[in-house]
Amino acid sequence: METPSEGVTRMAQNASLVVTDRGYLGVQRAWRAGVADRLDCPLVQVESDVVVPVAEASPREEYSAATLRPKIRKTLANYLVPLAARNVKHDSLGLRFSAWKGSDPGKAVASLGADSSVWPVSHCIGGAGTAERLLASFIEERMDRYGVNRSDPSLGCVSRLSPYLHFGQISPLFVALEAMKRNSPGLDAFIEELVVRRELAVNFVYYNRRYDDFSCLPEWARESLKKHERDGRYSLYTREEFENAQTHDPYWNAAQREMRATGHMHGYMRMYWGKKILEWSAHPAGAFETALALNNRWELDGRDANGFAGVAWCFGKHDRPWPERAIFGKVRYMNERGLERKFDIEAYEKAWRDKT
Ligand SMILES: Cc1cc2nc3c(=O)[nH]c(=O)nc-3n(C[C@H](O)[C@H](O)[C@H](O)COP(=O)(O)OP(=O)(O)OC[C@H]3O[C@@H](n4cnc5c(N)ncnc54)[C@H](O)[C@@H]3O)c2cc1C
Repeated sequence: METPSEGVTRMAQNASLVVTDRGYLGVQRAWRAGVADRLDCPLVQVESDVVVPVAEASPREEYSAATLRPKIRKTLANYLVPLAARNVKHDSLGLRFSAWKGSDPGKAVASLGADSSVWPVSHCIGGAGTAERLLASFIEERMDRYGVNRSDPSLGCVSRLSPYLHFGQISPLFVALEAMKRNSPGLDAFIEELVVRRELAVNFVYYNRRYDDFSCLPEWARESLKKHERDGRYSLYTREEFENAQTHDPYWNAAQREMRATGHMHGYMRMYWGKKILEWSAHPAGAFETALALNNRWELDGRDANGFAGVAWCFGKHDRPWPERAIFGKVRYMNERGLERKFDIEAYEKAWRDKT
């Protein structure tokens, strides 16, 4: 089977210019570098997966959202403008290449050797049209409550756009411009997540080549976690037990079940979920690996800059030191009482109790 670099090079044999979107993860960079090495014509990368180009936003790895935010905000208005549409002579959809036959997607997926123990989900239909409809319903029905209610997993007022953003089926610029058409009290909070937090994740994977390893963490977090490595654990679970939602904690199990059943876990529960994997694993570095492996296996939006940054956040990345405590050291702690205090977590737990 051809690698993406080989396939693109073959398709571009007669091209005078190849244009692609820019990717920031190691594998995406390697594909593009492979194409650039093989092509006889120029290769242009367009930064369509971010609103503010990564190096324009900042020339270095940022410490946190607080340090990136003013840099993004300073230049955001220059990039929050609609793109001028141009008609091309030859549409790329008209290109002929030997790929899968669309008539049998099951067979095509099987030929890739993909992990078939992760089952299909029925609620999430792919495609740009679905993404646009989902965005329209979010803006119309939920965005006004987003600022106040987005953290509550029982209310479901988030956009659910992350898989579509991940697979490039909708662009963050388009999402932001559509959202800005509504004079909504939730707009600022939404732009903060969609642009500042999302592009902080891109900044992280772009400048920190160890983004998928425990060693990507700031020194204070690594040292503090190591110092508390031998602290007694109330519970210890294997990766398999985590994966099968077999912990003592019904809220954690509900979050894991939500992810397995739908390919999506609510954002607030992802934080709690990652923190507890740290708390109930024998070693912090092993916990980091487990969290990343489960996230990237089960989330439809997994294997994304956001996932690497999200997991790393649970271990201290983009955060500050907190008062020292067992196991977590100076890394921020979360507990179930916070969930009970803030949300109707019982309703959330009940909704996922019997799901596999
Ligand atoms: C442990 C952990 C793992 C995570 N794994 C992933 C992952 O694999 N893929 C992924 O896309 N996101 C991940 N996130 C970030 C965040 O939880 C999801 O982006 C969000 O929950 C997606 O739901 P939504 O589209 O309804 O978001 P909304 O709240 O509607 O936000 C709109 C968009 O803003 C971006 N966004 C929202 N919250 C964040 C955030 N905290 N950091 C960065 N961008 C954000 C996303 O692109 C999202 O689609 C993770 C967070 C944590 C703590």
